[in-house]
Amino acid sequence: MKTIKAAVARQPGGPFRIEELIQDEPHFDEVRVRIVATGMCHTDMVARDQLYKVPLPIVLGHEGSGIVEQIGSNVKKVAVGDHVVLTYMWCGHCKPCLNGDLTYCEHFYALNFNGAREDGSTSTFTAGNTAEPIHDHFFGQSSFGTFALVHERNVIKVPNDAPLELLGPLGCGIQTGAGAVINALKVSPGSSFAAFGGGAVGLSAVMAARAAGATTIISVDVVPARLALAMELGATHTINSRETDPVEAVRQITGGGADFALESSGRPTVLRQAIDALAIRGTCGIVGAPALGTEASFDVNGVMTTGKRIIGIIEGDSKPDLFIPALVELYQQGRFPFDKLVKFYSLDQINQAAEDSEKGITIKPIIRLQ
Ligand SMILES: [Zn+2]
Ligand SMILES: [Zn+2]
Repeated sequence: MKTIKAAVARQPGGPFRIEELIQDEPHFDEVRVRIVATGMCHTDMVARDQLYKVPLPIVLGHEGSGIVEQIGSNVKKVAVGDHVVLTYMWCGHCKPCLNGDLTYCEHFYALNFNGAREDGSTSTFTAGNTAEPIHDHFFGQSSFGTFALVHERNVIKVPNDAPLELLGPLGCGIQTGAGAVINALKVSPGSSFAAFGGGAVGLSAVMAARAAGATTIISVDVVPARLALAMELGATHTINSRETDPVEAVRQITGGGADFALESSGRPTVLRQAIDALAIRGTCGIVGAPALGTEASFDVNGVMTTGKRIIGIIEGDSKPDLFIPALVELYQQGRFPFDKLVKFYSLDQINQAAEDSEKGITIKPIIRLQ
């Protein structure tokens, strides 16, 4: 048993409370990771607010990075002292997993949102009252705490010379945007790409489009500061959609429409714009998550006669063991400067970090745990 400090969400929409908890010993296939830092992602807020159902009380956090502290008897993938990034969880034995489509695992929702291990057990308890279990294993990690107990599957080894406290967001938000561009849309050299939404995901997509060789890169948002940052990260054009019709503007800049578009705002009206702004044979990826059950519309003939494609994308279609180290290398070569999205907070400032993120003041908060 290990005493840890973690941020606990106890009521829907309520604040995170810093509490002392007791954490189990690792199972044979688990790894205890001393968390160095954890990014904060929109999905943490969505879970806290119960728009996606998770059981309460729970430790959230799903962009953790840290150092392997202890390993279970059967763990082969990492050793004590290794630097790691934690990512989402998949089962490894369903049909999509066997096909290599890990982000579409049949058990994705259960494994990432049930607040427990695959077998339904939890590993965290209130200190001094071990009769009160605290839900954990959010995205297989629950990393808003000083230690996390994680299955070896979603522990990804990274080089020791990379800045570990920066790397956690590669496990979710950053790989979502970058992977959408590189793995899912397969943005090609010389092509045009439009990112609808300039948050952490949209801006990661802009950086990845540049790394992939797109020569026209358009960022669409309503916040001037984000548009300015997009230019710094590799956008060739920006559109403030509060002032300008983005469909017309994208068509004008690209001479007919974008080859690729990505919708990350989660708004059906913006998705419609992203589809309408495509070129003939263009592809629009959907990564923005509206409330469950939300529907959107498009012009059926407009899509059919132009051969457009609309695809859903989870976690950037990332195979994390391959893709996260690739992103680290791009960062180290200066070709993927995602540190420009980041602001650091202490664990005690976690509610401030959430507020700054929701207000759009901070694009990617990272909570330092040590
Ligand atoms: Zn699976
Ligand atoms: Zn996330």
